[in-house]
Amino acid sequence: MWAQQRVNRAPLRMVALLVVCLIGIAVAGRWFTFPHLRGTPDWRLDFTAAELARQARYRGELSFWMWWAILSPFLTAAAYVLIRPLRLRAMSVVRAAPWLGEPGRAALLCALLLGASSISAWPAEVMVWHINRRWDMTSESLGGVFLSLARDVLLMGLVVFALGTLFLRLMRRWQRTWSTRIAAGSVVVIAACGFLPALQGLQPERTTAMPPGKVSQQLETLKVKAGLPSVPIRVSASAGSDNGLNAYATGAGPWARVVLRTSSVNQTRADELTSMVAHELGHVRARDPLFGALAGGCLTGILIAGLGWWQGRPTTESGVRLPLSPMHMSSRQMSPIPARIVPVLVLAWLSLQLAGLPLVNSVSRGIETRADIAALELTQNPQAFISMMHRVAVTNLAFLGDDAPRQWLRSHPTIVQRIANARAWAQANGIDVPPGIVAPKPTSDGVQRLQ
Ligand SMILES: [Zn+2]
Repeated sequence: MWAQQRVNRAPLRMVALLVVCLIGIAVAGRWFTFPHLRGTPDWRLDFTAAELARQARYRGELSFWMWWAILSPFLTAAAYVLIRPLRLRAMSVVRAAPWLGEPGRAALLCALLLGASSISAWPAEVMVWHINRRWDMTSESLGGVFLSLARDVLLMGLVVFALGTLFLRLMRRWQRTWSTRIAAGSVVVIAACGFLPALQGLQPERTTAMPPGKVSQQLETLKVKAGLPSVPIRVSASAGSDNGLNAYATGAGPWARVVLRTSSVNQTRADELTSMVAHELGHVRARDPLFGALAGGCLTGILIAGLGWWQGRPTTESGVRLPLSPMHMSSRQMSPIPARIVPVLVLAWLSLQLAGLPLVNSVSRGIETRADIAALELTQNPQAFISMMHRVAVTNLAFLGDDAPRQWLRSHPTIVQRIANARAWAQANGIDVPPGIVAPKPTSDGVQRLQ
């Protein structure tokens, strides 16, 4: 009988091992010694009153829908746990597929609830698209938006269903060791996704080579200076993408690369693009994508091994078995995770994601500040860096202001903070950067038009 067996301590040992690994990754990634943001943000120094008013209007229109997109998946999952008729309805939908068996039904319910949580954010996604369209921030059609939302939710549902079914079958096959085995496997798979850009996301981004020319040559020189001559700089070829300026670094080792949005190449000056690429090379040199993926793998492993520990606990004193009891493992008719507790697990998963946001974003802001400093050190050109930041802010209608209370929502420091930091760096290195160097000549609509 399960109750008489020794308490299985392997999952707890696995949790402890992965926590030690996580601390090791944080030390190796130098997450305890991020450079401090310096300088006092002053948005009036580099932005005109018209630019400030324009972004305030745009951000004001977006605000409600952004909160909706953040909170609606969580509230939808909570509704399925708290509102009984809703929960029963979801259960009756999966019971209508008796050929699946109990594990398949539990996996299907998980996929359906996560799908419903994603769909609850659609009204916000469509409104954000509508606002972006009015502000000339996107060229995507409404049909294209719906198509990509539907495709994402369908792919996510299929992956959750397939992985969930596999997970539950492995739980039944490896009754005492599933959590340590699956946790170790997850760490390896998620870390591999960080290494190999081809495995990232459900639909990896298509890219093309950087068009040849003077800028391309300057970037080659920059890579040599950064000690990363073989890192490819690619241009995103995704159709219907937004019109904003953006770039990112991905992969590690021989698979590391920098990807630029087409608008970043077309709408910036050469020295601004050089600063943007220098920031991304800073991420590659610090191996930020790799350490991020390893940390993500460890966190997932900790959650799975933690679930294994919970499932393997002895019965309560009253003799009542809690959900996830090993008893469910012994019958082929039953699922190791019964469908009735799936809504609670989905809610717990979304709550953990929301609760972890302040910590994850705080690490991310440190990583971004470090990449900014790396870009300044590499280019020795704070004017170009500030000019690039200004152009990004004006083109992307980025938030311009001091936003300490809501910074837990932000993966990057605000643009005015990054500009203040660059000014402080310039001052510390004896480089003179006059205030308002990039203050544009306002056009009739108060916007600087890009060449
Ligand atoms: Zn960055």
